[in-house]
Amino acid sequence: MKKMSLISLAVVLMNSCISSPKADFEKYFNNKTMRVDYFHTGTATEEHFSIDRILSDGEWGGSVVHLLDVLEYGLYLFEIQDLESGKLLYNRGFASIFGEWQSIPEAQQQWGAFHESVRFPWPKNAVKLLMKKRDSQNNFSTIWETEINPESRAVTPADLDNNLVTKDIMINGSAHEKVDIVILGDGYTPMEMDKFYFDIEKLTARLFLVEPFKSRKSDFNIRAVETPSSVSGVNKPHPGVFARTPLSVHYSSFDSERYILTYDNKSVRNAASAVPYEFMYVLINEETYGGGGIYQLYATVAVDNKFSDYIFVHELGHHFAALADEYYTSSISYQIPEITVEPWEANITALLDGNQLKWRDMVEAGTEIPTLWDKEEFDSHAIKIQNERSQLRAEKSPERVLEELFLRQRDEETRMINAMENSGKIGAFEGASYYQNGMYRSSTDCVMFTRNKLDFCPVCQKAISNVIDQYVK
Ligand SMILES: [Zn+2]
Repeated sequence: MKKMSLISLAVVLMNSCISSPKADFEKYFNNKTMRVDYFHTGTATEEHFSIDRILSDGEWGGSVVHLLDVLEYGLYLFEIQDLESGKLLYNRGFASIFGEWQSIPEAQQQWGAFHESVRFPWPKNAVKLLMKKRDSQNNFSTIWETEINPESRAVTPADLDNNLVTKDIMINGSAHEKVDIVILGDGYTPMEMDKFYFDIEKLTARLFLVEPFKSRKSDFNIRAVETPSSVSGVNKPHPGVFARTPLSVHYSSFDSERYILTYDNKSVRNAASAVPYEFMYVLINEETYGGGGIYQLYATVAVDNKFSDYIFVHELGHHFAALADEYYTSSISYQIPEITVEPWEANITALLDGNQLKWRDMVEAGTEIPTLWDKEEFDSHAIKIQNERSQLRAEKSPERVLEELFLRQRDEETRMINAMENSGKIGAFEGASYYQNGMYRSSTDCVMFTRNKLDFCPVCQKAISNVIDQYVK
């Protein structure tokens, strides 16, 4: 046998032992999306799952090579295992409205039920769906599992025929090899569809000036689906403006005036299924400041506010990369928070892991940890602004008066942060994720911290890039 043949034989043998992810996709999946709709029910201390429907959600738009989620962000994680062999075929970390609802006081007093979906490539054979949740140590453990046989009469392989108008906004390649974002709208009348497209252009143009979206623009596809409503605007319970729109979007989620969500998961998913997608943005045809973003579910933004650009970018940080809010509420009373476990989010730390600072490879040698910043000056200004804001809200001041206050706050905070000694450095700055003390962010400023500038800090940029990598070829 000649030498070359021996090498060829070795290559053949190696290939037969290691299966490639693409080969795995072809072996275990069809090029369709399976959507499992379920009810997520419970109280602050317990939770239950029950299947609603198992459906086809159109062509598979996700990657066929990155089947396993190496990042595992989110409070929950679902897994698809081959029933016969137990092999892990697909998984994704995610967050849910139920998961957030569990932490509000209402969950202590009554039951809540939310409709949710998980989506994965259509299995060729029977699989097991496992639902996992973080425990008190932030490790995932299984809280529910069920078997799915794609041949069963309980599974509907037909695609939804919803006749919605769709439009390609930016296409850079195959859905399998790009990050696919679907943009929906709520509170736009048929006469306002031109405005819907204008808003999409305006907001996405701004997004792609922000890193890492700027340098990775060609990794994205953006498509829009029209869901016109008969009235302009959406439901706003706080000022007593009520409307029922196709996607049932509303302000006052969890009774927080500017938190915009929809609990009508089924309508949103059915509309989005008109195109291949992994991420969803719902534009809200409103001026009143507001938005929301839940990891792997959707983000929302009120499009006609002075801060819409900021909200659009900030909420995408939550939805796209599970980034934590880096801001906190300053208060005069000093409280020692009970933080006993390191948070799982990429952009905050409780510094509980000694030298294992999660972004240590990005910290310049010689940087002090924790890193000094003029927190007292910043906090006392923040308290002043909060008091003014409370008063304006109590007086039911018009939106533009609140906008003026936010603009004044932005200018003053920008000035303060730029003047600080460690401004622009990567370190561990105290004050993050609603904790005034004991929780740290990596930079003095970031779009997850203030409205000052639409830039993600380097640590957030890296987290977003890592997510992009999981969807591109
Ligand atoms: Zn950041």
